Amino acid sequence: MKANFDEKRYISEREFDAHMAIVKDWTNSFIRDTGEAPTYYIRTFGCQQNDRDSELAAGILEKMGFRPGASPEASDVVLFNTCSVRANADNRFYGHLGSLKPIQKGERPLIGVFGCMMEQDIHVNAVKRTFNYVDFILGAGAARVLPYAISQTLLSDGAKRNTIDLTDWRGLGDDTSLPVWRADPHRALVTIMTGCNNFCSYCIVPYTRGREQSRSYEMIVEESRRAVERGAKEIMLLGQNVNSYGNDLRRRGKVDAPTFAKLLREISRIEGLWVVRYMTSHPKDLSDDLIEVISRESRVESHIHLPLQSGSDRVLRRMNRRYDSAHYLDLVRKLRSARDGIAITTDLIVGFPEETEEDFEATLRVMEEAQFDAAFTFLYSPRVGTPAADWYDESQQEIVRERFKCLVEYQNECSLASNKKLEGQVVEVLVDGMSRRDETILSGRTHDDRLVNFPGLLMSSFTCQEWSSNEVFVPHEVNRGDVVQVLIESAGMYSLEARQIQND
Ligand code: SF4
Repeated sequence: MKANFDEKRYISEREFDAHMAIVKDWTNSFIRDTGEAPTYYIRTFGCQQNDRDSELAAGILEKMGFRPGASPEASDVVLFNTCSVRANADNRFYGHLGSLKPIQKGERPLIGVFGCMMEQDIHVNAVKRTFNYVDFILGAGAARVLPYAISQTLLSDGAKRNTIDLTDWRGLGDDTSLPVWRADPHRALVTIMTGCNNFCSYCIVPYTRGREQSRSYEMIVEESRRAVERGAKEIMLLGQNVNSYGNDLRRRGKVDAPTFAKLLREISRIEGLWVVRYMTSHPKDLSDDLIEVISRESRVESHIHLPLQSGSDRVLRRMNRRYDSAHYLDLVRKLRSARDGIAITTDLIVGFPEETEEDFEATLRVMEEAQFDAAFTFLYSPRVGTPAADWYDESQQEIVRERFKCLVEYQNECSLASNKKLEGQVVEVLVDGMSRRDETILSGRTHDDRLVNFPGLLMSSFTCQEWSSNEVFVPHEVNRGDVVQVLIESAGMYSLEARQIQND
């Protein structure tokens, strides 16, 4: 693991501005020489917290004069924002990084790597040793160090640029003042806290992101308000465990620090907002106050993602989750009676070390009772540096795969049954954009976070002649970020098919 978080070195706000200015001078001279702005490309792996960090990195790059590039190969700066939660993301990162090697022969881009993997010595050393064409590495959530990293790289000897290791550096100051470049202007990701204190025995996050740190209540509200003023219809509040928001402040003596319930209520009352979402909730910290807010505030999403992980109390203890199946099911009952039709989704891990058939059956029993509307299901994969990695037994994998198949089949039935309940109903959908596979299909999300596809064209690509039918309402002015009404015509396991109807 990397150095203790207390031993980090810091960049002040004044230094941040000074390094921004150095890079801005460089981009200005680049534009003078070439007639074009230098370009950047960011490849992001992992969770929405990483998406948010990439938005900040992009905002900083834009402010320094860079513009988005079409591909890594065609860009002047390439950044990788890494994730260490699952082995799959590690491997994909190394694959993408390796694929940049051939272009090192010619005019090479400046390459930087940041994110959770760069908080682990094993990956830091692997990058430095095997991919020595990487110019700099930063830790997780280190957007404020980016201008320093780029200025140091530009000032270093161009013929032989060793990887500059800035993984022990952090920036001082609140993210509210940083520029943000949002890929989806109608959706604002807002970090409310970083780090985690829970130390689930399978999870690397507390080691890579450090301990819980809540952002200031006022700054979160201000950032959310500003995002809505600029057109955001959806706010997504982010934290590893949003339900413990403010606990660190209370531990440090600020006894009246606001809770997550208060924060969620305040944000849900911002005029112009359609929905506020939040993730992730930990069952041990889900309070009655929060359930009250979920039940009363109509702009709070009609959905909660509440990771169960396992239905076996023995496994939950070994995972260090600090709740049992009875507590979890009690929460499910409270939530379902607090808000009519609320969708409850979850995470499940199959094959945690020494999981027995009885443990697995206990998980199925909880699933039967909870009737999850959807679930993210994972085969346990050991993460070096976590306690559970030492308990891993590869010889069990065949039986674990059988269990996984059985669990996925059951959940698929539940997901389909849940989606089927919406057939024939008119629901509102926040339009995200065109489907990737078909330009004549739009996709969006319901208030309870279900994916909906329906025929239509975005305003920018719409022509009347192509779309004149008496049977289907022609969506003359559909844009990304519009809220439209659709009639659900058919349901699948993962999405709903619909047609748009005239808004009142
Ligand atoms: S709550 Fe557990 S699983 Fe979630 S980030 Fe913290 S340690 Fe990891």
